[in-house]
Amino acid sequence: MMTLSKDISLSELLELPQSAAASSLSELQNLIDDERSRCMKVVGLQVNLFSEAQADDVRVRFTGKKSPLQDWLKALRNYPADERKDAGAKINQLKSFLETEIENFVVKCRLFAEEKKLADERIDLTLPRPELRLGSRHPVSLAVQQLLEPLKRLGFTVIDGPELERDFYNFEALNIPSDHPAREMQDTFFVASEWVLRTHTSSVQAHAMMERGVPLRVACAGFTYRNELDLTHVPTFRQIECLVIDKGITLAHMRSTLDAFFAEVFGRPVKLRLRSSYFPFTEPSAEIDVQCQQCFGSGCRSCKHTGWLEMGGCGLVNTRVLERCGVDPQVYSGFAFGMGVDRIAMSKFGIADLRSLFEGDVLLSRQLALR
Ligand SMILES: [Zn+2]
Repeated sequence: MMTLSKDISLSELLELPQSAAASSLSELQNLIDDERSRCMKVVGLQVNLFSEAQADDVRVRFTGKKSPLQDWLKALRNYPADERKDAGAKINQLKSFLETEIENFVVKCRLFAEEKKLADERIDLTLPRPELRLGSRHPVSLAVQQLLEPLKRLGFTVIDGPELERDFYNFEALNIPSDHPAREMQDTFFVASEWVLRTHTSSVQAHAMMERGVPLRVACAGFTYRNELDLTHVPTFRQIECLVIDKGITLAHMRSTLDAFFAEVFGRPVKLRLRSSYFPFTEPSAEIDVQCQQCFGSGCRSCKHTGWLEMGGCGLVNTRVLERCGVDPQVYSGFAFGMGVDRIAMSKFGIADLRSLFEGDVLLSRQLALR
């Protein structure tokens, strides 16, 4: 039981008197005085000492059915007729005093309890902190990172370029003049006269040669845009592009760089196949095929039973491109290779539908981040 001072506790204050029956008016007056002072003592206490339940106990003690007040009211009819009026006046006076005091007291206790509850709710340092959900990288961003790391180790500098591009950097400088049939290969978003959304990251090659000069060893990853949309094509996708320009660069340099790069990407040496192809900005040009890592060449569903996966394109930089970018093809030569990151991300993380990369489903990213 709570102790209010050295020598009195709340339970003692709330004890009922030994006998509440009065045999005379003066005795009644004494009992009423006692009851009044007892009440004054209780309601004079700090409200923070009382819980709401305890405040209710106080109310029951002073004005409830079994309180002395109620006993005295009931006993009124036993008084002789000439004393009844006086006794009634005294008891009713006490009644209104007790009711006012107790009501005030209970309200104060309740307000204090409510304020305390609000304050506790505001800053409760004992509660466990809410779970913090950290974000995770998008699968394509993860793939970009995992492709750029080995390139950095191979001595490539990672550079960036504009996504809104001048026609010159996207086409002209890369040996695709306005009447060139190769423009047909890329369904382009034309933004304004002379401005396009870049259709490949190869546009960064021209920027690099013209702004940085040669020799060069650069890699670039970024968004590219084409006006196409079906089950296997989306209007925006990410490419990664590499360019090396130096004296005496040959196909042998390209091949050994590709071997080293894909060995790092797959975590072990993989078989590569260069298949003759055509790109306006390289000559000769080739498609890069990597042996299927599911079936190791015997044929399966993910390689469409060919045993090979198409990864991207490569070639020696076309001398016309070198000339247009201010590099002397008599002194310098170079190679370039590039690939779509989305497809690599799909095969790397086993994602079946290309469109799921664009649905913004956080579960997909979170799942991959846990790997
Ligand atoms: Zn296969």
